[in-house]
Amino acid sequence: MSTTTAPLHLMNNYARWPIHLVKGKGNRVWDEAGKEYLDFISGIAVTSLGHVPTKVAGKLHEQLDMLWHCSNLFHVPGQEKLAAKLSELSGLSRTLFCNSGAEANEGLIKLARRYAQKVKGTDRYEIITFGQSFHGRTLATLTATGQEKVKDGFLPLPEGFVTIPYNDLAAVHEAVNEKTCAIMLELVQGEGGVHPAYEKFVKGLRQICDEHGLLLLIDEVQTGIGRTGTWFAFQQYGILPDAISLAKGLGSGFPIGAVLATEEAAQAFAPGTHGTTFGGNPLAMAAGLATLETIEEDAMLERVNELHQLLVSSLQQIKAAFPDKVVEIRGKGLLLGMELSIPAAPVLDYAREKGLLLLLAGPQVIRMLPSFITTENEVAQAAAVLKEAIAQA
Ligand SMILES: *Cc1c(COP(=O)(O)O)cnc(C)c1O
Repeated sequence: MSTTTAPLHLMNNYARWPIHLVKGKGNRVWDEAGKEYLDFISGIAVTSLGHVPTKVAGKLHEQLDMLWHCSNLFHVPGQEKLAAKLSELSGLSRTLFCNSGAEANEGLIKLARRYAQKVKGTDRYEIITFGQSFHGRTLATLTATGQEKVKDGFLPLPEGFVTIPYNDLAAVHEAVNEKTCAIMLELVQGEGGVHPAYEKFVKGLRQICDEHGLLLLIDEVQTGIGRTGTWFAFQQYGILPDAISLAKGLGSGFPIGAVLATEEAAQAFAPGTHGTTFGGNPLAMAAGLATLETIEEDAMLERVNELHQLLVSSLQQIKAAFPDKVVEIRGKGLLLGMELSIPAAPVLDYAREKGLLLLLAGPQVIRMLPSFITTENEVAQAAAVLKEAIAQA
């Protein structure tokens, strides 16, 4: 991939593309030189309503003139409103706000351990996670992550995690023991290659958790807030998890994270057991509320499902045109992957040159995360560029 080394005063922890973005509106972003791009990345599943969505921007401007920060020493009205809305949409009655996906997953991990130890009075602590998963970059969440590359150089890792194959119920039965307190997974593995969980697998996990008194924790950081065509991906599996994490799409680009739990699981936290200075900040709450209201008022979930059909059928046509280069199209809603039999990076480079931004999910998988306001014309434009890029590769 054509990437540049870090600017002099920034740490060298990202392989960045040679593009300096300065402006965004809707599904378009512009670089310093004024070149326009069609954005099918959405800041990695973050700007689901497009860039600078009008209603969210309006609510943020209002809040900017009211109160920026006060800390959780006080009641924050926006937190109560957003939590009530999330509860109505998810069926999970209690929310804890934080600032990022990794922090939300840390919250899930702490909730599961403390529930086992303080609510249930057991000495259980082990959490089962899955191969190719991605749960974040903090020490606990990178340990939970089922990809060795994120752990390299960070030993020793915290104890209490076991990773087993995804979509394999027999492996779960084998892994559960007297130390297990929870099972944690994504329902579509985003970073790990756009792999959806099978319905039988997820229903089986719910059953195993019920039988053994374990918490079922769903990482909805990427799949949540409409990305897969329902408010939360778990709603397509006919189960209710004990707790979920949210972040990416919740604030339309304003940093926010959340842990949602059932009344029962939420007993894990009492005053003084967990917290964050910035979590639940009034600006983030305004962005979150306006995001949910926009999705609801503009009937965007229906739109995600329409766009899914349209985009998948365009991608299937590309697959039919290049059967030796395109292996599979998979994913849910607007979290889609196209697996190639060839390296995907040169395809991305070509598309970017032609003004289309696409993402990787592993060396041979192209990931597409267009916004919910993508038009039919934009789908056609993206498909045309992608087809040309694959033809060249
Ligand atoms: C992006 C992501 C995370 C990490 O979120 P950050 O905000 O980068 O910490 C965790 N889990 C999943 C499934 C993600 O896609």
